[in-house]
Amino acid sequence: MIGIIGAMPIEVDAIKAIVENKEEIHIGSIDFVKGTINKKDIVVAQCGIGKVFAAICAEAMILNFKLDYLLNVGVAGSISNNLDITSIAISQSLVQHDMDTSPLGDPIGMLSGINIVNIEADKEVVKKVEEAVKKVGINYEIGVIASGDQFVNSKEKKDWIKENFNAIACEMEGAAIAQVAYVNKVPFCVIRAMSDKADGSSHMDFAEFTKKAIKNSVEVIRALI
Ligand code: SAH
Repeated sequence: MIGIIGAMPIEVDAIKAIVENKEEIHIGSIDFVKGTINKKDIVVAQCGIGKVFAAICAEAMILNFKLDYLLNVGVAGSISNNLDITSIAISQSLVQHDMDTSPLGDPIGMLSGINIVNIEADKEVVKKVEEAVKKVGINYEIGVIASGDQFVNSKEKKDWIKENFNAIACEMEGAAIAQVAYVNKVPFCVIRAMSDKADGSSHMDFAEFTKKAIKNSVEVIRALI
């Protein structure tokens, strides 16, 4: 079974709409939609904004459904010059840019306990996603996606994330889902369409381009499944 998590209703509603043999299952605080797309078993859920909601949802999904792999789809702020608004970022790895125990001598972003900064996405799933994106014909880049509990809205913060993590995009959930998948040994990949450029205009771009960007991420999911 393929698991799909999106943060906002708008990011998952179009996917839920194409699920056949639909069954709605309520577990804890999450509504899961289970069924098939192109005869493949899938489960979709909307997690809410930020790393905590994302982690709650990922853990509930992994413990209650037998996942072959887990995808996180949605929008993000672009950090790479190669990613214009509506282009797609595919995760090679995920980092948490707001995790910082560096005063104690740790690298910025290190996840104490598992003691890594970058959580690698599953290579096979990344390859599948790349093929799907190519099929749809959308501009894309594979690289580091940085998550944190903040909407990035300045050149300074964007440059800081780029310098410290070599990230191509920033958002608020992917790395939390990655961490949950990692500790549960579930293959995963994050797919994000650019809604803004994470700079001083990102709030205005986000309002204007989110719908358009999401259309691209939904097309990729269709092509993938
Ligand atoms: N109150 C709003 C909050 C949206 S936050 C709401 O409930 O809709 C923005 C969402 O889009 C997050 O899920 C995040 O993952 C993504 N995102 C898009 N652009 C972003 C940026 N520049 N910085 C951080 N997250 C961004």
